[in-house]
Amino acid sequence: MATPCPSFLSTLSLRSKPSLAQPHRLVSTGLSKPRFTCRAGQTGFFTRLGRLIKEKAKSDVDKLFSGFSKTRDNLAVIDELLLYWNLADTDRVLDELEEALLVSDFGPKITIKIVETLREDILSGKLKSGSEIKDALKKSVLDLLNTKGNKTELQLGFRKPAVIMVVGVNGGGKTTSLGKLAHRLKSEGVKVIHFEQLPVTSWRYGLRGLGVRLLLVKERRLKHHQAVKRGKEQGYDVVLCDTSGRLHTNYSLMEELIACKKAVAKVLPGAPNEILQVLDGTTGLNMLPQAREFNDVVGITGLILTKLDGSARGGCVVSVVDELGIPVKFVGVGEGVEDLQPFDAEAFVDAIFS
Ligand code: GDP
Repeated sequence: MATPCPSFLSTLSLRSKPSLAQPHRLVSTGLSKPRFTCRAGQTGFFTRLGRLIKEKAKSDVDKLFSGFSKTRDNLAVIDELLLYWNLADTDRVLDELEEALLVSDFGPKITIKIVETLREDILSGKLKSGSEIKDALKKSVLDLLNTKGNKTELQLGFRKPAVIMVVGVNGGGKTTSLGKLAHRLKSEGVKVIHFEQLPVTSWRYGLRGLGVRLLLVKERRLKHHQAVKRGKEQGYDVVLCDTSGRLHTNYSLMEELIACKKAVAKVLPGAPNEILQVLDGTTGLNMLPQAREFNDVVGITGLILTKLDGSARGGCVVSVVDELGIPVKFVGVGEGVEDLQPFDAEAFVDAIFS
């Protein structure tokens, strides 16, 4: 019989920033009601957890919808164009549609591909009305996301603890996203260690008001692999590893990431299970070189695109998947603790094309 997982509150730090000069800290835990049951060593534990998280997100599409309101406003012009579309007007309408996609950061390559496919289908008589064109547009974006970035669920393997490492440049939203992820896992009754490099004051500040009970283990020289070892010895389900922000052009810091990844794998073969790169959605297509560099160095397994609520350039989600072939696993659509949404391609397409 499956026994309930001991459920501990993971730590949340929603406003704090790690920096290289600051000591590492291992923080955990409090008690909450378990909602997710597991058995030690049970292979389906993480698979079911991934599915559960995704199902929950499906019932929370409103958040995604409001988070993408700026991008949707940007793309609303497409509806107006298509409302009055007639065959004679095709070139002008497609030019304007192209412009709207570019402004929303779909990127030139995909934009041209989408627009030219639409043109062919219109001219061949396959698409006969504005609403058919709109549906075809949505389908082409959805197909691209499903083909090039379909593994959107967390892949946590079968060995406990699963290790999730988060990388990226400073200020992108790593710590905030990990805090939100910890909260999500915690609310499913998962036992989580959130390992950070933070000054005590900043995370305490971030935690205030969230009702999270904490136990702080002050260990100045603790490193990621030691945190993973601790997680393993103490029977945690998930270890969340925050890393210091670094520029992709700083090679010595990038090398440090490789060393960190290797050390973690030594403690726990197969770990880290996920290396998620956090990308700031407000930077639009500028995120591409950064993402490529991180991927080349450490091998990114998934992306978290943050601050999409503050940006009208949500099309960057599509261009980043197309360019890198890496799935977007989560999107950040606000600063609240519930505002990290597992990425669902269909819901995303509905949210940006109203
Ligand atoms: P880090 O340096 O990568 O760890 O970045 P932080 O987690 O400290 O985040 C930097 C800032 O971005 C903070 O002010 C966060 O509140 C903000 N932020 C992070 N994610 C989001 C998001 O999805 N939406 C919005 N609006 N702000 C966010």
